[in-house]
Amino acid sequence: MVRAVNIHKRFGDVRVLRGIDLEIPRGSVTCLIGPSGSGKTTMLRCINHLEKINSGRLHVDGSLIGYREHNGKLHELHPREAAKQRRDIGMVFQHFNLFPHMTVLQNVVEAPTRVKSVRRKDAEQRAHELLDRVGLADKARMYPLQLSGGQQQRVAIARALAMQPKLMLFDEPTSALDPELVGEVLEVMKQLARDGMTMAVVTHEMGFAREVGDQLIFMDGGVVVERGDPRDVIGNPQHERTRSFLSKVL
Ligand code: ADP
Repeated sequence: MVRAVNIHKRFGDVRVLRGIDLEIPRGSVTCLIGPSGSGKTTMLRCINHLEKINSGRLHVDGSLIGYREHNGKLHELHPREAAKQRRDIGMVFQHFNLFPHMTVLQNVVEAPTRVKSVRRKDAEQRAHELLDRVGLADKARMYPLQLSGGQQQRVAIARALAMQPKLMLFDEPTSALDPELVGEVLEVMKQLARDGMTMAVVTHEMGFAREVGDQLIFMDGGVVVERGDPRDVIGNPQHERTRSFLSKVL
C-alpha cells in the first residue's frame, strides 16, 4: 500500500528525514517507534501530503504522492489532484482535532457530505454504523467536550473511517489520554486491524506493537535503524540504539 524510497525532508537547515525507505504491505499494521524528534510524525505527514518531501519517491496504492511523472521528470500535482489523493488516507492525531462546535454525528458526517458529496441521509446512516463500531452509538447527539478523551479519540477514528480510506495513519493516538482510557482506543484499533485495514501507527505502546503489529520500525535521527517482526525487534534488538530506547519504554 505504501512504498517510500530514500525520502529526505528538511525544515530549513534541519534534516529531519535522511533517506527513509519503508514499505507497508496491504492489510498489514506497521508500528513506528523511536525517540522524540526522530522524524516519525514527519514521515506520517509526508505520506498524507501534510508535508512535502525534498527528495525520494513516495507511492501510496501505486500512485506517486504529490507528483506526476512525465518523460522521466517529476511535476507537482495541482492542489486539487493532491487533495483527491489525500481523501483515501485517514489520519488520527494525538489531540483528536474534532470540531468542537459540532455534535459527534456532525463531526463524522462532515467530510463525506462536503468533500465526497455523499447524500446527508446516507452519510448519517453510515455515521451511525461507524459510531456503533467504535462503541459510541448512544453519543451521536453529544458534543466532543462532553465526552472523555478516549471517547473523543474513538469519534476521531469513526470520522476518519467515514471517508472509507484505504490507509489509516495514527500519530500517537493514545499519548494524550489518561492511562485508564488507553485500552478502549487500542481495542478499536485492534478491531480495525482484524478487519484488514492497512495501518501505520506511531506509538509508544509496545504491547500493542507486539500483539497487533506485523512490522516494527525503529527510527532515530531521521533514519530507520532497525525493522522487523515486532516480537523479534522487541525481544532481541540488534542495535545498541534500539536496546537503549526499548529499555526506557518497556
Ligand atoms: P517525532 O515524531 O519522532 O517526535 P517529528 O517528526 O515530530 O519527530 O520531528 C522531527 C524533527 O523535526 C524535530 O526536531 C522537530 O523539531 C522538527 N520539525 C518538525 N516539524 C517541523 C516544522 N514544521 N518546522 C521546523 N521543524 C520541524
